[in-house]
Amino acid sequence: YSTDASIESPISPSVKVNYTQLLINGQFVDSASGKTFPTLDPRTGEVIAHVAEGDAEDVNRAVSAARKAFDEGPWPKMTAYERSRVLFRFADLIEKHNDEIAALETWDNGKPFEQAAKIEVPMVARFFRYYAGFADKIHGLTVPADGEYHVQTLHEPIGVAGQIIPWNFPLLMFAWKVAPALACGNTVVLKSAEQTPLSALYAATLLQEAGLPPGVLNVVSGFGPTAGASLASHMDVDKVAFTGSTDTGKKILELAAKSNLKTVTLELGGKSPFIVCEDADVDKAVEMAHFALFFNQGQCCCAGSRTFVHEKVYDEFLEKAKARAERRLVGDPFKGGIEQGPQIDSDQFEKILKYIDYGVKAGAKLETGGERVGTKGFYIKPTVFSDVQDDMRIASEEIFGPVQTILKYKDLNEVIRRANNSRYGLAAGVFTQNIDTANTLTRALRVGSVFINCFDVFDASIPFGGYKMSGIGREKGIYGLSNYLQVKAVVTPLKNP
Ligand code: ADP
Repeated sequence: YSTDASIESPISPSVKVNYTQLLINGQFVDSASGKTFPTLDPRTGEVIAHVAEGDAEDVNRAVSAARKAFDEGPWPKMTAYERSRVLFRFADLIEKHNDEIAALETWDNGKPFEQAAKIEVPMVARFFRYYAGFADKIHGLTVPADGEYHVQTLHEPIGVAGQIIPWNFPLLMFAWKVAPALACGNTVVLKSAEQTPLSALYAATLLQEAGLPPGVLNVVSGFGPTAGASLASHMDVDKVAFTGSTDTGKKILELAAKSNLKTVTLELGGKSPFIVCEDADVDKAVEMAHFALFFNQGQCCCAGSRTFVHEKVYDEFLEKAKARAERRLVGDPFKGGIEQGPQIDSDQFEKILKYIDYGVKAGAKLETGGERVGTKGFYIKPTVFSDVQDDMRIASEEIFGPVQTILKYKDLNEVIRRANNSRYGLAAGVFTQNIDTANTLTRALRVGSVFINCFDVFDASIPFGGYKMSGIGREKGIYGLSNYLQVKAVVTPLKNP
């Protein structure tokens, strides 16, 4: 295994943790209870910092600050151009502090520093600029209604948005949620994931520096069933946006329904097929399928976690996929060249090892990996299973780790049926040189994103979201705006009666 010796002696990150309190109404404050919780370094399991633990009372305070900032201004009352300028300035500040933010993200999350610094943090800036550009281009229609009426629509902000984000891409999920909400003139209470509270607090200070008025963005760190549930069930929150597991998504929807019927968008789990067709260039397909699954330690909701390979190329693909997994460089994520860091925490680490065990017991063939790397932290060897059957748990449930499951198929209709035989419908990969095959699969797959001869392309303009139990609504792109806008119809008689 190409593991790295420095796992046993992690490199110290070159960044300090400056913000650990809750951000409410422009002020950093302790939680009402005075409680804190530790956030851990996934490389070692050691404490990075103790962070204020928000609960119902803190959510109440944050929501009233956001309510006041929305109802009394200044945010929705500023000109759209002024709002866009705040967001543009924030993007500049993100770029200015790129490496510091990336280091914080790697420390709290375990993802390779190079991935954070070269891809994710720059994407955050790009993402804010994309929506900053929309802020002053949001407008309604004039409507050709029957009768003697002048009819127009106004596109207005919804109000206070509650946003609950996961730990796999902490800052990118902050961007996906916060940027469109603010661009449309809403105010926000954001609950970060308890595993990764640090980067959202840092980013929020930069938004303030960029000129965001107090109360427009409030950040409450804390746990799901307490702070998260309070936000989802709050009577003064007008909209909730959530990214996380399907089971939690159901709870959010229920809390929203039981309280004030706030509108809900959900971006949930997946078990995305990656289909390698008989005409595929096997070397390229192996590399793309490897990336589709192993990227971000396998902790992606849209991970290509069912690798379907046509029987004609199956043996060659398998041999090469196994060799590629064995070459994957696992080690301290702060070290250059590292492809895979530790999993986020011991819960996920144990869960992944349990799934590997299910796979072995169900009769799938463990080609490589299957165990931890080193003796501390949450590193797992890149793992490949072959001879996987559709009804095995490793082929139907989300593992969220570096475990590739390879399944054999014979013809296109069969793979369409099997690929669609899932409660999820987030994404799919299609690897083929044949345009007819690509078109047939694209139309037939019941998923929110189809990546043809590529995977995980996350440009700000591309909508993302799920069919079936992978979610409700679309984030990113022009579609993401509608999550944060109300439509008001205005009807005026042409002649005063
Ligand atoms: P995971 O299992 O990957 O941690 P979750 O869906 O549990 O995924 O977590 C995603 C986000 O949802 C986190 O911010 C978490 O704190 C929050 N969360 C978890 N449970 C609840 C809940 N019952 N109500 C509201 N938010 C929750």
